[in-house]
Amino acid sequence: MAKSKYEYVKEFETDDRMLRNVYVLVRIDGKGFHKFSQTHDFAKPNDVRGINLMNHAARCVMNELDDILLAFGESDEYSFLFRKSTDLYQRRESKIVSTVVSLFTSAYVYYWNDYFTDLKRPLYPPVFDGRAVLYPSEVEVKDYFAWRQADTHINNLFNTSFWALVEEGGLTPKAAEARLCGTDSKDKNEMLFTEFNTNYSKLPAMYRKGSVLLREQILKDEDKDAIIPTLPETLPGSKSAKVVPALDTATTVPGLQSGPDPISGSVSEAPSGQSSPIAVDSPVVSQETIMQEGSSTSSSEGKKRSIDANEAERHDAEEGPAAKKEAPAFKRMKKGVVIDHIDIIGEKFWTGRGAYILAPEKKKKLRP
Ligand code: ATP
Ligand code: ATP
Ligand code: MG
Ligand code: MG
Repeated sequence: MAKSKYEYVKEFETDDRMLRNVYVLVRIDGKGFHKFSQTHDFAKPNDVRGINLMNHAARCVMNELDDILLAFGESDEYSFLFRKSTDLYQRRESKIVSTVVSLFTSAYVYYWNDYFTDLKRPLYPPVFDGRAVLYPSEVEVKDYFAWRQADTHINNLFNTSFWALVEEGGLTPKAAEARLCGTDSKDKNEMLFTEFNTNYSKLPAMYRKGSVLLREQILKDEDKDAIIPTLPETLPGSKSAKVVPALDTATTVPGLQSGPDPISGSVSEAPSGQSSPIAVDSPVVSQETIMQEGSSTSSSEGKKRSIDANEAERHDAEEGPAAKKEAPAFKRMKKGVVIDHIDIIGEKFWTGRGAYILAPEKKKKLRP
């Protein structure tokens, strides 16, 4: 096709292809979600509908972009790790970041009413920003996720303590903040336990550890757009939390299993938005195993999702030979996006799946 005389303006576009052979990490964050959560009457400190909607939007992003191998979400943010060798949009930064942000935001609005059932759509359009960060080696990638999960813990422990003081203790927000000033995690755990009868380590893992999205084996008939179930409980210490119906007992609810307190050491903490003072080898890593810690989730129909073929085979064995004859589980498995609420700080998480997630770039011919 003949070029128009205006075509030259295309030359003003900058080449923003990101460096090859490094990890691409995209993080999105809600703009002004402090206000957004207030306007939409989010339960404090954790509105389970809001978290599940974030998780659903993130899963839509992963379903669309195969090169994302791992995602981690907390509060109003989500981080997406691309495979090192990704060639999506020839690694053009603006194309990749804008696609992730746009897809996430539209999914958040599209699925809004599935979670906030009493409100047809948000009262105003939510906005998310996004950025790409390049990490040269798996050390930084592992530390990145450790940083975000440590942040989840610090913020959640602070917020849980804060709202307990305000809603149950009757303190003003200012007084509650003053009360928590200078306290470490041990002090806060102690205060929650003695004054509010709350064992922090027994709160849902989804609140304490955030959400991890992985590509694992799932049942083939699993609905990729299945609504992520709502936790059948309210958060202790929060009067504003809404009671939601219990799930089918056959389903496995992520995050309900409790584990040891992820941070048992004394850490001087800041509430939010500040970099974590926790060292990589701090005792944040719990002894929980992946399977114990709610490694499966379920659709609204209550279909059971298993994490790997072995688990599915065991499931079949439990159901008896008739069920096995009907549809052998191992034939119905495929790779899918699953959600979990596990420790990603420390080597335990990466053992077994690190090789897949952090696979080095294959030698390939570069485009001329
Ligand atoms: P910025 O635009 O700079 O990101 P922000 O208001 O979004 O500002 P953040 O530091 O990103 O501030 O914090 C997000 C806020 O959203 C937190 O204050 C948190 O209280 C609120 N929030 C997000 N998700 C939830 C949720 N599921 N339940 C309750 N509150 C939530
Ligand atoms: P890419 O992902 O590379 O942008 P694309 O499929 O979006 O690919 P574009 O070059 O952006 O391709 O072209 C947009 C296409 O969308 C056009 O080919 C056009 O057919 C279609 N389209 C967009 N808006 C309309 C519209 N209002 N009515 C009919 N067709 C439309
Ligand atoms: Mg924000
Ligand atoms: Mg945020």
